[in-house]
Amino acid sequence: MVSRVIPVEVFDLVIFGGTGDLARRKILPGLYRRFLSGQMTGGSRIIGAARADLTDEAFRQSVAEAIDEFVPEERRDPKVIADFLAHLHYVTIDAKGEGGWDVLKAMMRPGVVRAFYFSVAPALFGDIALRLKSHGVADSEARIVVEKPFGRDLASARTLNATLAQHFDERQIYRIDHYLGKETVQNLMAVRFANILFEPIWKAQYIDHVQITVAETVGVEGRGAYYDKSGAMRDMVQNHMMQLLCLIAMEPPYHFDPNAVRDEKLKVIRALDAVRPEDIVRGQYLPGGGEGGYVEHSENPQSKTESYIALKVNVSNWRWKGTPFYLRTGKRLRARASEIAITFKEPPHSIFDDARGWRENVLVIRLQPDEGMNLMVMIKEPGPGGMRLMQVPLDMSFAGVLGAEAEDIPDAYERLIMDVIRGNQTLFMRGDEVEAAWAWTDPIINGWEARGDRPQGYDAGSSGPEDALMLMHRDGRRWREIR
Ligand code: NAD
Repeated sequence: MVSRVIPVEVFDLVIFGGTGDLARRKILPGLYRRFLSGQMTGGSRIIGAARADLTDEAFRQSVAEAIDEFVPEERRDPKVIADFLAHLHYVTIDAKGEGGWDVLKAMMRPGVVRAFYFSVAPALFGDIALRLKSHGVADSEARIVVEKPFGRDLASARTLNATLAQHFDERQIYRIDHYLGKETVQNLMAVRFANILFEPIWKAQYIDHVQITVAETVGVEGRGAYYDKSGAMRDMVQNHMMQLLCLIAMEPPYHFDPNAVRDEKLKVIRALDAVRPEDIVRGQYLPGGGEGGYVEHSENPQSKTESYIALKVNVSNWRWKGTPFYLRTGKRLRARASEIAITFKEPPHSIFDDARGWRENVLVIRLQPDEGMNLMVMIKEPGPGGMRLMQVPLDMSFAGVLGAEAEDIPDAYERLIMDVIRGNQTLFMRGDEVEAAWAWTDPIINGWEARGDRPQGYDAGSSGPEDALMLMHRDGRRWREIR
């Protein structure tokens, strides 16, 4: 059973960069689905704002096309789409110019939630924040939503935070990390903190290690020049994977409250040890399958940027001392799969003579492509063969419970936008968290830059560089297969 849709308050949502790729692929189709579900109600409006000189009509037409392209057919209802489009407006605004802002101000309605989504390059965040305030468009209750990348190192993240802080309070700033909007990621918190079963064994004494994998099959083609300035560490580890690690490792917050949760996540980031060079493997995919390799796609033959990284991370606190977290992420790998796997330790003593079938308990939380949770447990092999052990998955995912209704579960962007309207910051990164994550990331990146380390080549379609396997093997462990 899907929980009841509770409509959010009436809102005016302005999307800067409303004609861009992210708005077309995620934000606007997501808002349509929330409208279809009844969560976004009739009085609300969405205002696209970008440089292009468009009429409302032309903007609506482009959004209609985006819905056609990015919403599955069974959820496209022509009548609802027409109704949704009538709630869309457009204003031509150059973030760096003064034109258009007064038009936008005149559109704002008192007593309605006001939110501004910065779906533009971070270099424009400051310009938009400044003008929202100087033209009186944003009031003291307005919310702003900012996209990644939030800085490229500690210094730039601090500057960005300071710039936004000149115009907005922290309680008004929603830094999006769409991984936190995933149903399963929130389910992880429910499983941890709403059951007595897991929390007592959620510690180094009972957990052998944790693996976090974000594997992609796509390369960087099309956005190679942008990616080359970033790399897997900045693009994936500093934000998404760090957030996942925090949710697994954090202490129970005293309440499911935005600052209580974020305080606990921050403590985890601060407890991370510096990563030793021998605990890092960086890779770059090679040409293969008729496709160019990373250096061709990035158009930089000398590139030392990693399209793959694996790291062994230690959380130095009472709960986790001695339980490593292994993180890996890469492009052009064998399969697209994101998962967290928590591997428990062996029972202290086996009472069974035949322990051949024995495997560790593993809690697998899958984020992509199919969201769900499985707990791998041991049972007796059915039948007359005596006491033989076998491992079976205990399905803890909502998909099975919900059946076809699982289709109605909002995707990460939709959920997070609704949270912005509700004024709930729990699933958004706080400024100090982002800075702490960069403070941990910077020395790692500076280290390999100072040494001039080159990433190791790996075959496209493989599971990553050879050395990444060694990172686990040398500890007597192995990566889970990427499937
Ligand atoms: P894009 O280049 O496709 O779109 C940029 C938008 O900004 C366009 O609507 C453009 O008109 C507008 N714009 C550019 N200069 C402007 C100016 N001076 N004044 C007003 N508007 C201006 O970019 P995108 O892919 O949609 O990305 C937007 C932001 O979201 C970026 O910060 C990006 O890093 C981030 N992001 C994108 C994705 C994605 O999947 N595309 C994913 C995560 C984060």
